[in-house]
Amino acid sequence: MIKKIAIIGSGFSGLSAAAYSSKNGHEVHVFEKNSSLGGRARQFKTDNGYVFDMGPSWYWMPDIIEDFFKDFNKKTSDYYELIPLNPQFEMVFSDGNMALPQDYSEMRNLFESVEKGAAKKLDEFMHDAQYKYEVGMKDFVTKPCHSWFEFVSPKIAKSALKLDLLSNFHRFVRKYFSDPKLIMLMEFPVIFLGAAPKDIPALYSLMNYGGYKLGTWYPNGGFYKVIEAMSEIAKEQGVQFHLNSNVDEIKIIKGKANSIVVNGTEIEFDTIIASSDYHHTENLIQKEYKNYSEEYWEKKTFAPSCLIYYLGFKEKIPNLKHHTLFFENDLDLHTSEIYEHKKWPTKPLFYACCPSKTDENVAPENCENIFLLMPVATGIEDNEETREKYFLEMIQRLEKHTKSSDLLSKIEYKKSYCINDFKKDYNAYEGNAYGLANTLNQTAVLKPSLRNKKVKNLFYTGQLTVPGPGVPPSIISGKIAANEATK
Ligand SMILES: Cc1cc2nc3c(=O)[nH]c(=O)nc-3n(C[C@H](O)[C@H](O)[C@H](O)COP(=O)(O)OP(=O)(O)OC[C@H]3O[C@@H](n4cnc5c(N)ncnc54)[C@H](O)[C@@H]3O)c2cc1C
Repeated sequence: MIKKIAIIGSGFSGLSAAAYSSKNGHEVHVFEKNSSLGGRARQFKTDNGYVFDMGPSWYWMPDIIEDFFKDFNKKTSDYYELIPLNPQFEMVFSDGNMALPQDYSEMRNLFESVEKGAAKKLDEFMHDAQYKYEVGMKDFVTKPCHSWFEFVSPKIAKSALKLDLLSNFHRFVRKYFSDPKLIMLMEFPVIFLGAAPKDIPALYSLMNYGGYKLGTWYPNGGFYKVIEAMSEIAKEQGVQFHLNSNVDEIKIIKGKANSIVVNGTEIEFDTIIASSDYHHTENLIQKEYKNYSEEYWEKKTFAPSCLIYYLGFKEKIPNLKHHTLFFENDLDLHTSEIYEHKKWPTKPLFYACCPSKTDENVAPENCENIFLLMPVATGIEDNEETREKYFLEMIQRLEKHTKSSDLLSKIEYKKSYCINDFKKDYNAYEGNAYGLANTLNQTAVLKPSLRNKKVKNLFYTGQLTVPGPGVPPSIISGKIAANEATK
């Protein structure tokens, strides 16, 4: 039977769910509240010639993204050019900098120069991480996670111990390296998973493999190229997109989702897949059909929100790489202020992305496009004065690192984005940027369920359900939801 399917939201998970549902032979409509596609990965252009990706900037796990295109007999290269970044990124410490080369033998040399024996340790670390990546990203994350029985297979049982689900990442990294800079370098990727390294299972060293070993890439034209490519594929499959279309309600009659109300108009559907933030979606349905209570959400560990500045500089800034991590301060202090104390950081770490170092199309000639991103706790007070205080600190540290002076006078475009914007633009619970943290008790079956337990034709997808936050997992999430909804 051909089903009429509504997808709420057009981020990576919504686009993926739409493309696969349509490929599976159904009539698919995507309803997006904003005026452009892409959700957290939207892009905007300024009148004075800057092009800003609003969200993702680290293109990691290229093979997982490629898999989406393969499923539609396409290649990423049909849509965009991937440029390898060398160095992959630079880290700024209080007593020096470290740039991670793209080439693995150079990476080994760098490790050895910092700590005797670390090159061999890196080989061992990556060997283990590759195994986790292959089992984790190919077998583990593709499960709908309705029950632990899905994980009962000889292959997974055999690999369970080697996956290091029960040891934590903080301890794990220290088994290999003792130099504080190498430790920070290896711990940094798990920040994407939204929790402190001590709360993340060591399984996630797979991120180091999917990032450092498979390399850091840049889609020429910006990350939005991926959104454009995926929406083109969805359109080729017959998906119909409806922008500026806010879903106000999901109507459920006798345990069946019957229709959605879009900008006040009711439209009937056979099946609904919501990629809007999970907590918000639950507020679109009657209380008795919700999967989870308010108390459930209050107890969850959310990945951080972030303070972002999109900046256009009317001059080139020297000594700056495409990706720079400002880690002059203590990672543990910053993460404890995000997750335990829930307050603005006293000594923040932040990240600067300068795509105009690689791509001449994202800024006018001889100008620089930079976005600064500082992770912050969800749900804390967000106001202009606080944003500005951190902005000035980040600019000062940028000046020091790049040996530049008076950067403020060179800014010709400036826009900030933080907790209140995440709430307003994406209906994000407590203004979260990255969804739910991948802690052990929020992994697999313990994540919010992909299906509504009382309403058979209502499904959830995206970074708040399985497998978790990030571009590759969100794409996989859409595929799982589509397959569940159309089987
Ligand atoms: C600043 C930032 C940087 C990031 N950097 C990286 C990175 O470098 N690499 C990486 O892999 N990941 C990164 N991520 C994470 C990644 O971007 C997300 O995990 C992913 O984009 C989430 O996709 P999604 O489809 O789950 O959600 P979203 O993109 O939020 O999509 C949900 C959509 O639903 C829409 N919606 C909500 N409510 C309604 C409604 N009632 N009616 C209609 N539509 C509605 C929203 O407008 C939105 O478009 C970053 C995220 C952020 C915020």
